[in-house]
Amino acid sequence: MNIFMRTYILFFVLAGIFFGCSSFPLGFLTKSIRTLGGPIDSVRNKITEPVLPDVPLSVLWIGHATCLIQIHDRVFITDPLLTKTAGMLSQRIVEPGIDPALLTRVDAVLISHLHFDHLSYGSLDMLPKNGVLLLPLGGLEYVPNFSFADICEMKSYSSYTVRGATVTAVPANHFSGRYGFDALWMGSTGFTGYIIEYRGMTVYFAGDTKYDPEMFKEIGKKFKIDVALLPIAPVEPSSIMRRVHMDPAQAVQAMDDLHARVMIPIHYRTLRQGSDSSATFAQDLLKKIIKEKKIENRVYILTIGERKVFEEGFKK
Ligand SMILES: [Zn+2]
Ligand SMILES: [Zn+2]
Repeated sequence: MNIFMRTYILFFVLAGIFFGCSSFPLGFLTKSIRTLGGPIDSVRNKITEPVLPDVPLSVLWIGHATCLIQIHDRVFITDPLLTKTAGMLSQRIVEPGIDPALLTRVDAVLISHLHFDHLSYGSLDMLPKNGVLLLPLGGLEYVPNFSFADICEMKSYSSYTVRGATVTAVPANHFSGRYGFDALWMGSTGFTGYIIEYRGMTVYFAGDTKYDPEMFKEIGKKFKIDVALLPIAPVEPSSIMRRVHMDPAQAVQAMDDLHARVMIPIHYRTLRQGSDSSATFAQDLLKKIIKEKKIENRVYILTIGERKVFEEGFKK
C-alpha cells in the first residue's frame, strides 16, 4: 500500500472521528473503491470553442466545482478537476465537460480549498500557466512547483488584480486541510470563496461551504453579485453534511441572502458524494424547489459541458 493510499485511509478514519464516529466515512470509502475502473459517461457534443471571441459573461460547467468563467476577454477557472479520479479513490461518473488542451490562456485559476476534489495536481498540470494561481491562506505549501505566472495566497477580503480583473477572497464556512490530520493545525485557514469583478460584471464562486446566513448576507452587502456559483451536494446523511455543505434548499436561500441576480448550482452529478441515493439526487431536489418557488428565471441547471451565456441586457 503506497503512501497516498495510507494517507487517504487515515483521512477517512479521522473524518469518522471528526464527524462523530459515524460509520459513514468508511462505508463511503469502500463504495468509492468498488467503483474504480467502472465506466465513465461521456459528454455529448462537447464544446470545441471553450473561450468565445467576446462575450459579456459566460459560465461553462466542466463538472463538480469546475467552471470556466469568461467575462469579455478574461478567462477564469474554478477548482479545476479534469482527471479521471479525485485523489485516486473517487472516480468520476461523467467525464470533464471540455478538453483542457483547447485552453490557451487562463487569467486566473481559483482554488477554494485543498480537498482532493478541489485541488487536483494532475488537473493543474493540464492547464496553461500564463495566469495566476490563487490559493486560500495556508495553501501555498500544498502546491508543488507549478510554473504559473504568479501564485498567491489570499486572505479574506484581500484582492488580486489580473489584467484589469479583480479577484477578492471572501469567507466560506467549511473545513480545512487535505489529509485529515492537517485540519487540526490549519484551523480556520485553508478555505475560501471568491468574487470576480470585471467590466461591471460580478461572479461569486462559493467553493465548498455550509449554509451560513450571516456570512452570505455580509458578502451580499459588499458586492452586487450577478451570478452565484453555489454548491448543492452532498445532501445525505444530512446530520453530517449540513455541518460543512449546503443542500439545494439552503443554496436557494443563500442566493437570496446574497441578493444574487441568478445562481448556477455546482458540486453535484460528477462524483459519488455522501450517501445520496443517485447522481441526480440533489439536482432532482433543486428542480422541485425551482418549480415550487417559480424561480426558473433565476436558477440555471446546466448539464456537464453546457455553457450559459449572459448577454448585456441581463443586468437590466
Ligand atoms: Zn471540501
Ligand atoms: Zn468538495
